[in-house]
Amino acid sequence: MNIAIDGPAGAGKSTIAKLVAKKMGYIYVDTGAMYRAMALYFIRLGVASDDSAKIDELCNKAEISIEYRDGEQVVTLGGENVNGLIRTEEVGNMASATSVNGNVRKKLVELQQQLAAKTDVVMDGRDIGTVVLPNAEVKVYLTASSKVRAERRYKELIAKGMEADIDKIEADIIERDERDMNREISPLRQAEDATFVDSSYMTIEEVADTIMGLVKKYEG
Ligand code: C5P
Repeated sequence: MNIAIDGPAGAGKSTIAKLVAKKMGYIYVDTGAMYRAMALYFIRLGVASDDSAKIDELCNKAEISIEYRDGEQVVTLGGENVNGLIRTEEVGNMASATSVNGNVRKKLVELQQQLAAKTDVVMDGRDIGTVVLPNAEVKVYLTASSKVRAERRYKELIAKGMEADIDKIEADIIERDERDMNREISPLRQAEDATFVDSSYMTIEEVADTIMGLVKKYEG
């Protein structure tokens, strides 16, 4: 059994996916983290986000893998645990820019499909229900307004003691949505058989309960 959760940046996918995975006893796979690890690899090598020839050439050399230590997903790049390095805006923007590349996607989609073939997963991303796991038993398209998503991100950064500009965050979110939804290969869109959930005015528990309801419905 696989559960696919797609949606734009900041919709709460990872929080919800982790919670649902815990309730179901499944493995949570954060595919955005893989695109972020790939982006970190390019940043370290000084590759420009629009240098598609270099990206084509180098992406197959990136050694990205996902391991599970004490129940936590650990993303590794060349064996190094990069969990603590991939959550910056710089890496997020680079991930969005380089994930338009077909070879980058091919490599990471294969890795994601291998993980899901081995075990029951809750996987979140942009193209899980449409491309990575088209046969997932439960599919959700999770979104929220750009204003609410920016507010959530702003609160997260402030709580971490970081500086943040809410208007800049919302502008970045809108720009990233635009790119993710309009790219040629595997754009972000709702799969035909996915359930649309707008979390703008829902609590985390309410969203998780909605998904658990879909699982129960599937199981009959
Ligand atoms: O979800 P997260 O913000 O960590 O993803 C970073 C970027 O990786 C996204 O903006 C998107 O461009 C890309 N991505 C993707 N396909 C996925 C997951 C993430 O293109 N399945």
